[in-house]
Amino acid sequence: MITRYYDLKTQYNEGLNAGAEAIASGQLVIFPTETVYGIGADSENLEAVRNIYIVKGRPSNNPLIVHIADFSDVDRIAMDIPDKARKMMDAFWPGPFTIVLKSRGVLSREIAGGLDTLAIRMPSNEYARELIKRSGKMIVAPSANISGRPSATSARVCMEDFEGKVPVILDGGESRIGLESTVCSFTGEHPVLLRPGGITLEMLRSIEPSTSVSRAVLTQIAPGERPESPGMLYKHYSPRAAVKVVRGEEDKVENKIKSLYHEELGKGFRPVIYCPSFNASRYEGLSVRETGEDLNETAHNLFEMLREADREGVDLVLFEGVREDGLGLAISNRIFRAAGFDIIDA
Ligand code: AMP
Ligand code: MG
Repeated sequence: MITRYYDLKTQYNEGLNAGAEAIASGQLVIFPTETVYGIGADSENLEAVRNIYIVKGRPSNNPLIVHIADFSDVDRIAMDIPDKARKMMDAFWPGPFTIVLKSRGVLSREIAGGLDTLAIRMPSNEYARELIKRSGKMIVAPSANISGRPSATSARVCMEDFEGKVPVILDGGESRIGLESTVCSFTGEHPVLLRPGGITLEMLRSIEPSTSVSRAVLTQIAPGERPESPGMLYKHYSPRAAVKVVRGEEDKVENKIKSLYHEELGKGFRPVIYCPSFNASRYEGLSVRETGEDLNETAHNLFEMLREADREGVDLVLFEGVREDGLGLAISNRIFRAAGFDIIDA
């Protein structure tokens, strides 16, 4: 298959029309959003939906998110929608926020990996919204990466994983946020944060103070345990390099990272240290990469940096842990998973 690539900056109409036509005719399209790139299909075309799982190598019980551009679509596909959910939609849509609601059964269960719920999001990215509108469809899409690999935050990375496997790739520049959407479930009495993202727990609680956090956000699900969000089961966001996270008191973190670094070097392998810009001077003379000036920049750069580690042939990525509130909760969630929960308390 030949992949048609469009740069939306210079090929706005051509690219979006090609994407919309491809969706409407049952093909897959990779498209930009403010969170990460998505690989999308018509929500009502079961064969196209199945194709997403095949092309990604995604386990069939890991559900997809339905992307909409119109508030009224929620009532068409979901039911028993609590007021708390409506308040949150009003507050955070369009944006990096996904709600899990009871499905009306209009859309196939296969979209939700066999569950009787549906995850729904209204993205704010202009290109994504326009693609949905022009296709006239609701678009189901997971992140545009081969299953288990770090999510894609640029079209270049999508090409790495999917050139020749997906007919259309739309390039909308770098994803603004860089982490997947916040997922919050409204199927119980109170909202439950299943996956942290650009809309933080603090923001959710400012609307609905009773919002709780799934245990799976920062801890590993035991084998055999049933997670609220099936995506939590899988190894995720993983580069080929091993990843370790070191957290705790500043000085101790620095010392522990240095000793792990030298241990790795001594074995003949290639370690690299990932830390915020303001800490980089601690590791002078060692191989160090700055994740950014603050948590926003770190979120934006994280997945690309994990990909870069592989391009450079790094064997071990040593992460300085970040604070676990605000956007730091989402960053911690991703790096803990990338590390397969190899977390060292210094
Ligand atoms: P991705 O778009 O690749 O980030 O994957 C979507 C993620 O959203 C899944 O891995 C789940 O964790 C979550 N999700 C989607 N649908 C549901 C659902 N019906 N119930 C719970 N979590 C869901
Ligand atoms: Mg994903």
